[in-house]
Amino acid sequence: MNVLILGGTTEASALANALAERRIPALFSYAGRVAIPKAQPLPTRVGGFGGVEGLAAFLADNRITHLVDATHPFAEQMSRNAIAAAKQSGIPCLALTRPPWAPQAGDRWQRVAGIEAAMVALSGPHERVLLAIGRQHLAAFAAQPQHHYLLRLVDRPDASLPLPHHSVVIDRGPFTLEGDLALLREHGIQRLVCKNSGGDGAVAKLTAARQLGLPVVMIERPALPSRHEVHSVKAVLAWLAHAPAPETERGV
Ligand code: NAP
Repeated sequence: MNVLILGGTTEASALANALAERRIPALFSYAGRVAIPKAQPLPTRVGGFGGVEGLAAFLADNRITHLVDATHPFAEQMSRNAIAAAKQSGIPCLALTRPPWAPQAGDRWQRVAGIEAAMVALSGPHERVLLAIGRQHLAAFAAQPQHHYLLRLVDRPDASLPLPHHSVVIDRGPFTLEGDLALLREHGIQRLVCKNSGGDGAVAKLTAARQLGLPVVMIERPALPSRHEVHSVKAVLAWLAHAPAPETERGV
């Protein structure tokens, strides 16, 4: 057995620990988006594979027998590539994800389908907005330059950001309710924009928004082709114990 974990999430790191503890042979892959990624207890590679063909070649070259896509629910391209490359290579593929967040009593969510729709939802007079969507898609919000944006990022941005009025806090979480209440109050935040990532590490901002009665523009997850998906490391271990071996290992 040789497992490839597509990482970049807390769940991927938890799985890496579990495989390392059990001495299950595995490799870990990062996209390379953050300057200093969390160290993993497994051999680790960094950078894109080169699309579906590149990933299929990597699977063959490294004799990968099981692929676990533990990327973020918004890493749509990587997840699509994982499904396609695993199918092409005849190896089993599993997604390890977190269930999405669901609104609770007191929440003031406006659910939108993507970044563009979130940007449109901000049409309106000046507000102070916590834009908690990471770094990649900030440019879309230049179309709503009237707002002051508070950005929470893992790395300090090197290039000048496309938003005329903004401030940046550098933090990679996990975040606490006390910390996020203080952040929203100190910056006078009037609205949040975030992705429906799910999980515990970043949920504090939603609890804080509920307590402060603030509206949230919630970007829902991209739709993916149907795939085998589980929500726990334990379920991945059970799958590894029972998933069919790839065609090459069965000698076909
Ligand atoms: P994406 O748009 O789906 O992926 C774009 C390309 O980046 C992929 O086609 C692939 O390049 C490369 N890539 C992505 N994840 C990779 C991995 N784990 N190992 C090797 N290559 C990878 O992904 P993204 O949204 O930019 O996310 C990049 C990474 O950040 C992922 O690991 C994800 O788990 C993490 N992350 C994303 C978010 C988010 O909101 N999107 C939030 C937190 C963490 P090739 O086609 O060349 O193989």
